[in-house]
Amino acid sequence: MTKVALVTGGSRGIGAAISIGLKNAGYTVAANYAGNDEAAGKFSAQTGIKAYKWSVADYDACAAVLVNNAGITRDAMFHKLTREQWKEVIDTNLSGVFNMTHPLWGGMRDRKFGRVITISSINGQKGQAGQVNYSAAKAGDIGFSKALAQEGARAGITVNVICPGYIATEMVKAIDEKVLNERIIPQIPVGRLGEPEEIARCVVFLASEDAGFITGSTITANGGQYFA
Ligand code: NDP
Repeated sequence: MTKVALVTGGSRGIGAAISIGLKNAGYTVAANYAGNDEAAGKFSAQTGIKAYKWSVADYDACAAVLVNNAGITRDAMFHKLTREQWKEVIDTNLSGVFNMTHPLWGGMRDRKFGRVITISSINGQKGQAGQVNYSAAKAGDIGFSKALAQEGARAGITVNVICPGYIATEMVKAIDEKVLNERIIPQIPVGRLGEPEEIARCVVFLASEDAGFITGSTITANGGQYFA
């Protein structure tokens, strides 16, 4: 039976590597993105994976494997954080996970098989100054997954979280290079940023039949930067 996997935010960065990893593992993959038509077009042309545009922040969307990867940052110190920055990040990074998982849950229950894999963050585990909105949403993703894992277990659905550390994508390359080299990389014991493919391999494993006994777990993939 062909399994379908939907990867939100699957056209760039970590999501693109996840889409390709799942395709190479035999899944029929659909990638979602928000608005960057050019990047999505290039991704589809290079990989043969179709990309579909909608915002996970909207409720209105059948897949055996759901990878909730779409995410944004709107960083500011709390005293300067606007309600808009708070809402945008909560809507996308936390409500987006509800919006995508809820419509697919019934189908997974009916089929007695499902995989929900959500990309949280090291900063949802340890908190990060300047990212109260992002840390709250990403910690929320972990709570969401632990609770839902208990509901899905008897229906053959596993629900897990991956918490990447700093991964070399546009999101991280947007950080000032001096800050990256002098403050962030020295905090990573392996001495480098992670690669998107290193996260994609965790996803491919959690999506597999072999991972059926793993649910409610949080996989930390951060080069030793933080032990949750
Ligand atoms: P990128 O910014 O490189 O890519 C983000 C992807 O998410 C794009 O495909 C983007 O679409 C999509 N996206 C953003 N908002 C929405 C939305 N509302 N609806 C649908 N798609 C959306 O991010 P990364 O690859 O770096 O990050 C992927 C995930 O990993 C995120 O959840 C992030 O928080 C998490 N993470 C990343 C880390 C890192 O170091 N990079 C570290 C820890 C966690 P479009 O191209 O249209 O903008």
